Amino acid sequence: MAECIKCLMDTEYGGSIRIDRSGLCNQCIDFVKNVRNRTKSGSEGEQALRKIVINNRQRHSNNEYDCILGISGGVDSCFLAHSAVKFGFKPLLVHVDNGWNTPTSVGNIEKIVDGLNLDLVTYVLDFEEFSSLQRAFLKASVPDGEIPTDFAIQVLLWKAAREHGVKTILTGMNYFTESGHIPEWSYGHSDWKYINAINEAFGDRPLNSYPKMTLPDLFKFTYLRNIKRVSMLNYLDYERVAAEKVLVENYDWEKYVGKHNESTYTKFYQEIVLPSKFGIDKRILHLSDLIRANQMTKVQAKEILSKDFSSSASKERILIKYILKRLALSESEFQVIMNDKNQLYSDFPNNSRYVSAIRAIIQILRKFKMYPH
Ligand SMILES: [Zn+2]
Repeated sequence: MAECIKCLMDTEYGGSIRIDRSGLCNQCIDFVKNVRNRTKSGSEGEQALRKIVINNRQRHSNNEYDCILGISGGVDSCFLAHSAVKFGFKPLLVHVDNGWNTPTSVGNIEKIVDGLNLDLVTYVLDFEEFSSLQRAFLKASVPDGEIPTDFAIQVLLWKAAREHGVKTILTGMNYFTESGHIPEWSYGHSDWKYINAINEAFGDRPLNSYPKMTLPDLFKFTYLRNIKRVSMLNYLDYERVAAEKVLVENYDWEKYVGKHNESTYTKFYQEIVLPSKFGIDKRILHLSDLIRANQMTKVQAKEILSKDFSSSASKERILIKYILKRLALSESEFQVIMNDKNQLYSDFPNNSRYVSAIRAIIQILRKFKMYPH
């Protein structure tokens, strides 16, 4: 077992983390290798972005909107909306309501929509069906309980693009603060086969209305329909703290405690289920990203990690009670889940081999400049 000398990655987190002779992990090495290709900074970034905006407008000459922008109320997506308008995009905002929004996130979305005078489409997931899928992921004992939400958002953004004749999806993904990934900690963002397998094994109803997308569908959207994803924050020297300040000053945006606490389920999952059942602390991933991007030192990160999550024991109990009630799970069923043997996505039918193969092909195409960075 070894920890990276630069970030917080440790080989104990899974076989995907490797430390080389110099003491650096593969994620830090990849970051240094890729950051120049994946991101542009300063005036170079702004110029590149302005070019994208002009080309994109030409692709949408007859359209009211020229991009789809998914908004959660969190800092990344709200800052993305702010920047998109600033640079001349005409976005249609899309929000996916999975039934677990916090009042803060709803308020933040309203503030951005009003402040920027943009249109918003909200897709509301059928809660009976969606919560059944969430229960299935809990019962499967895999650490991928956030995948039902992430997958649905992705598919509904493609759907909105198709319905509104838009060929660009702006994403808040950014290489500065989201460079790392541990598949053993979370897998399935593009894998309908895996999601369906979990539901077939542990779900109690068919997924009739839940958004679906197979790999051939993905190919159809990205390649045949030529719908592009633009990770705009990669052009803007993105720093989360500075972004929060802009949002507070311009929109009276409200800051969350914790990175992903725009959803009560995310809070429950990341602060209770993942650490207690799987020994996974997602903050490690996020803090390592910030260290790599030189937005934090390792000492500062360790200091944050040494503190518990924000909730007190009594607040935690209230949260668990609330979640279990809404999920229609009893205390004893939850205890069984928490004590059950942990599994990985690889224990279920999945498309990971194809997903990896596609990623590898993309890397090769990028080398020959046949696929954008
Ligand atoms: Zn590292």
